[in-house]
Amino acid sequence: MTDTLPTPPCDILILGAGAAGLMAALEASAPRRNGPAPRVTVADAAPVAGRKMRLAGGGMGNLTNLQAGPAWYVGEDPAFVRPALRRFPPRAALGLFERYGLRWEQRDFDQIFGLQPMARLVEAMVADARSRGVRLCFGLRARSASRTADGLFDVTFESGGRSVSLTARRLILALGSPAWPSCGATDSGLALARGFGHRCLPFRPVLALLVLPDRHPLRGLQGISVNVGIAAGTQRLVRPLLFTHRGISGPAGLIASCFWRPGQAVCVDFLPDSPLRDMLDTPACARLTAHGLLRRLLTARLADALDALLRQAFAGSGTPAPPSGAQLAQWNRAQRALLCETVHAQRLTPTGTEGMARAEAAAGGVRTGDVDARTLESRLTPGLYLAGELLDVTGLLGGFNLHWALASGQAAGLAARRSLTPDRTAR
Ligand SMILES: Cc1cc2nc3c(=O)[nH]c(=O)nc-3n(C[C@H](O)[C@H](O)[C@H](O)COP(=O)(O)OP(=O)(O)OC[C@H]3O[C@@H](n4cnc5c(N)ncnc54)[C@H](O)[C@@H]3O)c2cc1C
Repeated sequence: MTDTLPTPPCDILILGAGAAGLMAALEASAPRRNGPAPRVTVADAAPVAGRKMRLAGGGMGNLTNLQAGPAWYVGEDPAFVRPALRRFPPRAALGLFERYGLRWEQRDFDQIFGLQPMARLVEAMVADARSRGVRLCFGLRARSASRTADGLFDVTFESGGRSVSLTARRLILALGSPAWPSCGATDSGLALARGFGHRCLPFRPVLALLVLPDRHPLRGLQGISVNVGIAAGTQRLVRPLLFTHRGISGPAGLIASCFWRPGQAVCVDFLPDSPLRDMLDTPACARLTAHGLLRRLLTARLADALDALLRQAFAGSGTPAPPSGAQLAQWNRAQRALLCETVHAQRLTPTGTEGMARAEAAAGGVRTGDVDARTLESRLTPGLYLAGELLDVTGLLGGFNLHWALASGQAAGLAARRSLTPDRTAR
């Protein structure tokens, strides 16, 4: 349902009714101590609010993570998230569930999931915003935005073949990223931000399946899930890796995709909790072949594939392979080192990701150096604010992206509201 278009100008215009835009609207429309609540309008191209948010966590919403902090974000400056997350910590996200009588549960790795469809939270935020006088207008696709001579923001939309324009004293861009375009996601926020002088990094798909080459020995293991160790920036994480018919996914594969660049390898430890080095000299292992040991430690199909990778490693290295059927006791130091490397530091070189179509997020976006981390206000255009995935801030899997969208939306909405003095508020 679309509310009637406001008569211009409104005080705060928010582009995008996703997690960031809705949160910004709730915060921007709060009553002020020294004046009436600002007139807030939210405009979105989609027919309903929060289409991407409704998909989150398979529909049940991994809304936040108790560990939320800079270590869980990638971008030019992960510390950029700190002020917004300090003001909106994980307990604030839990408060959002509770404010609307919704239930949640804590899962592995401190992830917080809703116990009802995420759509319920979206609808509750929309109803709350409307009850505060926020106008929500759907089917309005923002095409361009500029600043008028008297300092207002002028945004032109396309709506059913018509051109519509809205003016506002403050403008919040919360247009998300182009990841998962089937829910209406676009990269149009970048063009709008560039129009105000912002420098942007091209979006690239992340939290996406990594495709392995056609003949790779690990292709064909679909359905197998195994805990692996992966490097994630400065951290080493142990997470389940899921093999699919095209490559690697699951939490480990998706997190690895955030750090991967074309041509690079992803380093996987298939036995993160059992160092082979310590095992090889034990009497029980010394009598086994490498293949036999792998079969004891790993699921059979994965053990066979790693054995094939080990044979490839011998073929491609200067180290002669041990005679077939040789017990590990007969392996020399270099041969053992190659076995350990194959299992603990397997370098997989994906041919690509599954692309934007199936990416849960996009890295890149508006560069954070031109944005004030406390207020999310543009340093180039006062009165312009940016929030959510549109910025060059991407959370690793686990509830960090929705948390960032909410936290940054809250910071932008609050700062935009506080920047309006009573006499400048349109009434
Ligand atoms: C399948 C899937 C599952 C996910 N699961 C999780 C999860 O469990 N936990 C988690 O933390 N994150 C998850 N994410 C990521 C998370 O949903 C996003 O990071 C978050 O929703 C981003 O919020 P946002 O408000 O910045 O952008 P969005 O929610 O994308 O909102 C942007 C809004 O802008 C509108 N828009 C775009 N272009 C225009 C235009 N030109 N004019 C007007 N409106 C426009 C769009 O219609 C949209 O409503 C998932 C993502 C996907 C795709």
